[in-house]
Amino acid sequence: MKIKRKIVKIDEMLCNGCGQCVSPCAEGAITLENGKAKVLREELCDGAGFCLGVCPTGALTLEERETENFDEEAVKEHKASLVKEGLAPHIMSCHWCGNSEMIQPLLPVKTNGDSTWVCVKCLPQLIHG
Ligand code: SF4
Repeated sequence: MKIKRKIVKIDEMLCNGCGQCVSPCAEGAITLENGKAKVLREELCDGAGFCLGVCPTGALTLEERETENFDEEAVKEHKASLVKEGLAPHIMSCHWCGNSEMIQPLLPVKTNGDSTWVCVKCLPQLIHG
């Protein structure tokens, strides 16, 4: 079912294919195709925009438009199939200690102009130094 909502927009002219936006997407909705980032299926993108801050070229924005409704069940099935195939770019690790999100919950953090992901174990060090 189509509704009007926010969804990620990728400017192909600006995208350099670095792939940095693939793993921050918790839904595994972004893939690389022919050297360019692409939203795999519109119902997989929740429009939260966690990918925006990691793009070095500003190719990612959010736009509000008519599109497929976000589908949590489709996301679950998609993620399960990625894990089954050994392709799980949405499973992330803490950029400080390397712990997988399967071990410690991760939080998105902006620091020194960069977007990063830090696990709850490392977050106090980041806050208190
Ligand atoms: S992070 Fe930006 S430049 Fe890199 S692949 Fe994604 S959209 Fe393209």
